[in-house]
Amino acid sequence: MKDGTSPSRRAVTSILYVAVAIALFALLRVGPPRASNGEMPFSELMSAAGEGRVEAVHIEETQLRVRVRPAASSSVAQPFVVGRLPGVDESDFVAELRGRGVKISGEVRSTGIFQTLFITWVLPLLIGVGFVVWMSRTIGRAGPPPVGKSKPRLYDLTKDPRVTFADVAGVDEAKAELIEIVTFLKDPAKHRALGARPPRGVLLVGPPGTGKTLLARAVAGEAGVAFYSLSGSEFVELFVGVGAARVRDLFKEAKAHAPCIVFIDELDAVGKARSFVGGAIGGHEEREQTLNQLLSEMDGFDVGEGVVILAATNRPEILDRALLRAGRFDRQVVVDRPDLRGREAILRVHVRKLPLAPDVELSVVARRTPGMVGAELANVANEAALSAARRDVQTVEQRDFEVAIDRIQLGLEKQGRVLPQRERRRVAYHEAGHALVALTVRHADPVHKVTIIPRSIGALGATLQLPADERHLLTRSELLDRIGVAMGGRAAEELACDEPSTGAESDLEHASELARQMVRRYGMSERVGPVTYGAMVAPYLDPHLSARPECSEQTAIAIDAEVRSIVQGAARRARTILEERRGALDAIAERLEREETLDRETLLKLIAQAPLPRTNQAAE
Ligand code: ADP
Ligand code: MG
Ligand code: ZN
Repeated sequence: MKDGTSPSRRAVTSILYVAVAIALFALLRVGPPRASNGEMPFSELMSAAGEGRVEAVHIEETQLRVRVRPAASSSVAQPFVVGRLPGVDESDFVAELRGRGVKISGEVRSTGIFQTLFITWVLPLLIGVGFVVWMSRTIGRAGPPPVGKSKPRLYDLTKDPRVTFADVAGVDEAKAELIEIVTFLKDPAKHRALGARPPRGVLLVGPPGTGKTLLARAVAGEAGVAFYSLSGSEFVELFVGVGAARVRDLFKEAKAHAPCIVFIDELDAVGKARSFVGGAIGGHEEREQTLNQLLSEMDGFDVGEGVVILAATNRPEILDRALLRAGRFDRQVVVDRPDLRGREAILRVHVRKLPLAPDVELSVVARRTPGMVGAELANVANEAALSAARRDVQTVEQRDFEVAIDRIQLGLEKQGRVLPQRERRRVAYHEAGHALVALTVRHADPVHKVTIIPRSIGALGATLQLPADERHLLTRSELLDRIGVAMGGRAAEELACDEPSTGAESDLEHASELARQMVRRYGMSERVGPVTYGAMVAPYLDPHLSARPECSEQTAIAIDAEVRSIVQGAARRARTILEERRGALDAIAERLEREETLDRETLLKLIAQAPLPRTNQAAE
């Protein structure tokens, strides 16, 4: 579905052009072939003239053809060619020869240095450059042949699978906004009669993979109209003018087939604000021309004709202002990341064709995939199907979804990597520590499962928690519990293996960052108070920030102290919990070491079977 011209054909054509240019150049440069058999330096000609050996001189533009008798023998004169130096006037010399009775023919006219340069170098160059310019212009104007031919893509609704709103889930607000356009496209005449004006251009804005392209196609599918689409990245072309020509073609085609939709995907590639555009000069001009063409096409048609322009971008902030002006993309529809219910709905769309086992609970899958967008959820469904295929079974089960999510979130399982016994035990205790603290404190997200299978991204194990719900706010207790859970891994290592290891590094980072935000951003420390301090970009991420502290030195010291005390307090709390429930900790770690992965039920059972907490015995 790309350009009509194949790359190889394109290459051949360009080579041809270059060859023609070189040939032209060479022709002009070399001049007429020389008929004589010898060349003679001008100085020699002068001495020969002094000795009276010159018989005839024929003056040409760049050379003299002379007949000179060789010095030694007094035999017949030989023809020679003497180059004329550019810018040298030989008329005195010629007059002298004439005085000696030498036969002179041709015209004595000195070729000026500029003239010579012009003829031998500049003219051919001009012709060559002119040729190339003319070439690219022609191609640009004609749009089509032979280089850079591109028809706007048309989804033929009779052949391509028709996409409807039923295929797009979890973006209900966006759909609601687009329904208006669907009704307009279904019957533009009726709207015209009512005097109702639909928006000329609608810009779909949202992160990658949220379904913008899909939505645009669904609008066409719902309305049953043609769908012409071009992607902004396709405009980046070699020859100036190609992009503009494509835009022109696109709109011409669309107007001829109204009602229909014109869809410009990745609008930012063309519509970058002019001030944002740096880089290659060619690309700059190309983009500008394309953008201008787009703007003028958008201005130049009547919405009543039934052409609606949709565009998509994930970077609306860099778009040229002119694009967002009234009468162009004056309406923006936000296509956001789906929430919990949205994710479940999207999953439902993508499992329609899968043979699902009865145990599959898409709500659980949705809960395990916070932050994922439609494209990623489609990938989860696909990975689950692949997992089932690998197991060689007939239906896709819940555990296939588990495998799929782990694979996407944690990375591939590291094949054949076996940890030494002692490290394995340590990792098991570490994860058991996280899990047990999470299962004990009141405000932590429910533990979903624990695993000590090494992953390709470097993790030796993981404790997965399921947020019970979409979270928008976190309370102080919840934050403190999160820090406690993060410190649980290291606390367990200290208890069971006598000392900590490097394995807790990212836990410490996570805990410190949370504590720092509590103090500096959320005003959750008594000592520092409900005042915010400074941007939360870590200094190592932005060197300029560390250069200007945003609080006094005393405050900085107080902040540091508070952060440390929060993390230390959480670490103590975690250790106390684990000491009290040492039986459960040992049980979980042992089982984990044996089975590598434990789910929630197993964890709860192990805890229930373990000896009761030794209350009030912890050293504190
Ligand atoms: P965008 O254009 O926003 O980057 P796409 O429309 O190209 O995203 O989405 C890529 C694929 O992801 C779609 O073809 C579809 O399979 C899936 N997808 C994305 N969003 C959704 C959604 N809201 N509902 C269903 N499927 C979706
Ligand atoms: Mg897209
Ligand atoms: Zn950890």
